[in-house]
Amino acid sequence: MDILRAPRVTLIARPQFAEPPHLAVSWRGDATDGEKLAEFAGRLCYMSQANPAKRTTADYLDNIKKQGHGSVLEHSVYVLLIEGISRSCSHELVRHRAGFGYSQLSQRYVDESHAAFVVPPAMLGDEKLEAAWLAQVTAAQEAYVRAVEDLMRRYEWVADKVHRRKMAREAARSLLPNATETKIVVSANVRAWRTMLELRCGEGAEQEIRRMAVAAEAPRLFADFEIYGAEDGAEAARVTYHKV
Ligand SMILES: Cc1cc2nc3c(=O)[nH]c(=O)nc-3n(C[C@H](O)[C@H](O)[C@H](O)COP(=O)(O)OP(=O)(O)OC[C@H]3O[C@@H](n4cnc5c(N)ncnc54)[C@H](O)[C@@H]3O)c2cc1C
Repeated sequence: MDILRAPRVTLIARPQFAEPPHLAVSWRGDATDGEKLAEFAGRLCYMSQANPAKRTTADYLDNIKKQGHGSVLEHSVYVLLIEGISRSCSHELVRHRAGFGYSQLSQRYVDESHAAFVVPPAMLGDEKLEAAWLAQVTAAQEAYVRAVEDLMRRYEWVADKVHRRKMAREAARSLLPNATETKIVVSANVRAWRTMLELRCGEGAEQEIRRMAVAAEAPRLFADFEIYGAEDGAEAARVTYHKV
């Protein structure tokens, strides 16, 4: 059984900006395609492609956030593959609706007999707590395997084996704990990511989703997020521009 102690966050898609030559911007400073796309959209509103204030993209985006003109950030969509998080963490994540898309591992279709489990950050490093936790998740997984076998027998009369397996797994999964690892692909635009990160990096957020949110931090569009060591010993983040 794999025991996971940290999330794995992989950026799997980012914007590709194809600048229209007839509306070319006088860019200043370095920028990624996603950042340029947001600046291009913002400049279109005022037809300020000539960049009269001679702003770098970093300064321009900072001003966008200061003005609360967050809709221009909606054009830049980033897609993350998130692994090594628990079902309880993903349950909190999928509460974020506006601007988000999700595709998550199905416990009805996927055999969880060898699923991994995620140690809650608050237990990490405490041998006694971790050992008691491990005994509980091991017993739960064994109960799951037994239940799948029993249910497959109970529904032997279902001719379609794929359907029978699904029936067995969807019932047996009720025995798996919240700590069961899940994998999820999450698409969101920058405005939505910022709102989610602001809520989930805060000291009031549960430690596991906070750890995941801190790991997902990225430059420029998120430059106003400041990561710091919180009183409870874990990292948290605060933001200068609230909910743009
Ligand atoms: C520390 C913490 C503790 C929490 N505790 C609980 C809890 O005990 N129980 C619980 O159920 N949830 C809890 N939540 C989840 C919380 O209630 C929200 O569901 C979650 O944070 C998503 O926030 P959101 O709706 O603002 O996000 P999104 O769905 O991403 O929406 C972003 C913004 O879009 C707007 N919006 C989205 N949908 C609508 C709509 N239908 N109508 C109008 N405006 C809309 C709102 O301005 C919203 O803030 C907790 C969250 C945090 C951070």
